[in-house]
Amino acid sequence: MHEYSIVMSMLDICEKHAKNKEVEKVVVNIGKMSGIESHFLKTSFDVFKEDTICANAVMDMNLIDITILCIDCEKESLVDQFNFYCPHCKSGNTKVLTGQEMHIEYIELKE
Ligand SMILES: [Zn+2]
Repeated sequence: MHEYSIVMSMLDICEKHAKNKEVEKVVVNIGKMSGIESHFLKTSFDVFKEDTICANAVMDMNLIDITILCIDCEKESLVDQFNFYCPHCKSGNTKVLTGQEMHIEYIELKE
């Protein structure tokens, strides 16, 4: 399961970052095009956080919209999933700016 390995590396990052403090909250950014099922990720996190530094932590997720930049008319647009044509000039000559990412935005530690 893809989400499983993501959670494992997230816990790893938390562990390194927290330096033996308890983690209270983990906020992750998930692009709508990243292929990650947010509810699977949350469930995996709740299962695998047991006995780790994140045992009492909650996970918050920011879903990141897909935006593209049109190379031809240089406009940025918000697009529906997997529709990468510029809505302004209909060009297919576009580049994805956001929506593919998956990373930890920040980690909150217990004081
Ligand atoms: Zn355009």
